Amino acid sequence: MSAHATPVILPGATLGVLGGGQLGRMFAHAAQAMGYFTAVLDPDATSPAGRISHQHIRSGYSDAQGLAELARVCAAVTTEFENVPAASLNQLAQTLPVAPAGSAVAIAQDRAAEKAHFVRCGVPVAPHAVIETPEQLAAVPADLLPGILKTARMGYDGKGQVRVKTLEELAQAWDDLGRVACVLEKMLPLAHECSVIVARGRNGQIVHLPVQRNLHRDGILAVTEVYEGNLPLAQAQQALAAAKSVAEGLQYVGVLCVEFFVLQDGSLVVNEIAPRPHNSGHYSQNGCDVSQFELQVRCMTGLPLVQPRLHSASIMLNLLGDLWFAHGDTAQTPAWDQVLALPGCHLHLYGKAQAQRGRKMGHLNITATTAEAARATALQAAAIVGIEAF
Ligand code: ATP
Ligand code: MG
Repeated sequence: MSAHATPVILPGATLGVLGGGQLGRMFAHAAQAMGYFTAVLDPDATSPAGRISHQHIRSGYSDAQGLAELARVCAAVTTEFENVPAASLNQLAQTLPVAPAGSAVAIAQDRAAEKAHFVRCGVPVAPHAVIETPEQLAAVPADLLPGILKTARMGYDGKGQVRVKTLEELAQAWDDLGRVACVLEKMLPLAHECSVIVARGRNGQIVHLPVQRNLHRDGILAVTEVYEGNLPLAQAQQALAAAKSVAEGLQYVGVLCVEFFVLQDGSLVVNEIAPRPHNSGHYSQNGCDVSQFELQVRCMTGLPLVQPRLHSASIMLNLLGDLWFAHGDTAQTPAWDQVLALPGCHLHLYGKAQAQRGRKMGHLNITATTAEAARATALQAAAIVGIEAF
């Protein structure tokens, strides 16, 4: 269905989301707060979003019957994770508005296609080589080493990645990854990482959240800091301009996160995109007057986009399952009562039954009037729950 011809979908309608993880849950919360009904499609009976949605269609993401049921009950559909088959989005789009489009999600699903898109947009990328055949492996230039071999598809949180120093290690790593399509990226000297969330409407209007400064640990996002001066102004402006051109180049409708590396010489390199709200945008729930999830609702329904305003210095701390095992192998709930005694501390938990090491269980948003105050409180909260200082 052509997005332009579609009338605005007002509260009272049902909005659907493919995927029942925490991003779907927070999308559903935002939609429900605005008076929409929600439907989640996810095979897992205990999925975080399925548990809180008005409707939960338990089916696979390619299941024709499940998709038909979703299309029947919803006025529009979005997605919360990028590995939902683009064909499913395309099928839904035949009868109702779908944002983002399958074509954009398909590019985000594939690191090689993604990098080609960045190059088309004139945005700098890490030196890299696509490896799909033994011939391409043999032709890898030595100056890409040391590097990181990443599977082109299905990677997340640093999974499907191997660091390699020599051509022998590279060949071994490609074997270990099952000789699937991969991208070898040169290992870059990072000063830090940042990301930008943009929301683009059906009419091409773009709004954005402020540039986020991110700290990763073991390939997983640990801390996001957002306040004036979190990054040099020129870097922030460059990241924002690059994110907008990536979204425009895709004719994107929806919320898009663009992740960047800032190198030690101050230059910026785009890493990857996520065609949905992103972990690094969670602070917007408490630090901005419009959250990334409300932006998702506004994009998919054709509601107006207004430029979000950061009203508080904000820090987001990810709560990984490891925190439940700080005192041994039996899961123990962290001292939320102590954390919540701190001013400006907002707890978000995803309703996952079992804590597991490396699993994202929730996050803490800390807001304050100044960056210094936010940092001081965030460090106190981190010490209480057992997150290493940053
Ligand atoms: P996520 O799902 O969290 O976005 P991912 O599995 O898609 O992660 P990447 O974003 O590619 O993985 O990489 C994870 C982290 O590994 C990066 O945030 C960065 O800290 C580090 N990293 C990745 N590629 C490089 C590189 N070329 N040079 C230096 N560090 C890198
Ligand atoms: Mg990443």
